[in-house]
Amino acid sequence: MPTTAIHASRILTPDDEISDGVIVVEGSRIAAMGHRDEMRLPADCIDFVATGMTVVPGFVDVHIHGAGGHDVMEGDARALDRITSTVARHGTTSMVATTVTAPIDETCRSLQGIASYIRAQEKAEPDHLCAEILGVHLEGPFISKARRGVHPPDSLARPSVETFGKLVEAADHLVKIVTVAPELPGALELIAAAVAAKIVAAIGHTDADYDQARAAIHAGARHAVHMYNAMRPFEHRDPGVVGAILTDPEVTAEVIADLVHVAGPAIQVLMGTKGFDTVLLVSDGIAATGMPDGNYRLGNFEVSVKDGVARNSEGKLAGSTLTMDRAVRNVVSIGVPLQDAVRMATVLPARRLGVAGKKGIIAIGADADLVALTSDLRVAGVMTRGAGLA
Ligand SMILES: [Zn+2]
Repeated sequence: MPTTAIHASRILTPDDEISDGVIVVEGSRIAAMGHRDEMRLPADCIDFVATGMTVVPGFVDVHIHGAGGHDVMEGDARALDRITSTVARHGTTSMVATTVTAPIDETCRSLQGIASYIRAQEKAEPDHLCAEILGVHLEGPFISKARRGVHPPDSLARPSVETFGKLVEAADHLVKIVTVAPELPGALELIAAAVAAKIVAAIGHTDADYDQARAAIHAGARHAVHMYNAMRPFEHRDPGVVGAILTDPEVTAEVIADLVHVAGPAIQVLMGTKGFDTVLLVSDGIAATGMPDGNYRLGNFEVSVKDGVARNSEGKLAGSTLTMDRAVRNVVSIGVPLQDAVRMATVLPARRLGVAGKKGIIAIGADADLVALTSDLRVAGVMTRGAGLA
């Protein structure tokens, strides 16, 4: 594979900033990087010149259901290819395929399909632009009926270590995140089982009060799914699950920063309270992402999209059509410094997944997952594990 040298006016690694930098890519990895004056480039390398642009790590989306007209629950390679190539055009270079609640057998079939796609991606160097699926996020069935959002009520299940084991098995042990409502019977045992299997236990779709949420954190839950959405709301004499998440620095919180799911000032409250190091940008994107308005499927039910906002037949918000580049622009528009916004979309989710060093970072030896952004933060070029760009 040829060597590529990417020249950029600015590189955000994202913990550091390098002006007039060069990144050398060999195969699917970053081989060298630094300031232009310090670099000796191979004579036969292909140059990609990103003058006036900022190069950042590819975005890592830990909560995404679909894109490009397809849903991860379809589970076949064609659908997953369509999803991974659609989001890659918006700068997402790795993602955690997120399920929606469905009957267990059906979910197992989807998980088997997703797992074989992941194993195939692991084996082959990519020959085209596509996000790498890092694993699965089980959003349901272990969630609250009262805070189910659009998840179908008939398929919700009580947390069960046995059922969880069946799902993990079907996914060939590629489950990375499991959403659990802490107040349900069996939730704490499930959280402990997830932690023992090195799976992130996430608090979400929950009506938990403060003490119930604290008990989940004590049992090992360290992540919160789409903060504020599908959660018992904060009340000053009853701070509930939101209060427990806001006040615990060990717990990371996802936010859907489309400015529809959560108002800008509520995102500011989240970041002002927790700091910039524990808030992760996610898309919660569905099949309609990257597609025109119309009717789409999310798991087993229909969703209609108008002006880019997805709702089910009752008018409830049903995921989003947000892309990670837009999420970054949105949080910058409400006052978050660019470097912090980029960290929220790259290194912080990578750390939560335990893949920091490989993903969400521009460093020697890391995967060559890169995004070139224009001065108004539009995506001008993307590289996924060495493929794309030049
Ligand atoms: Zn959800």
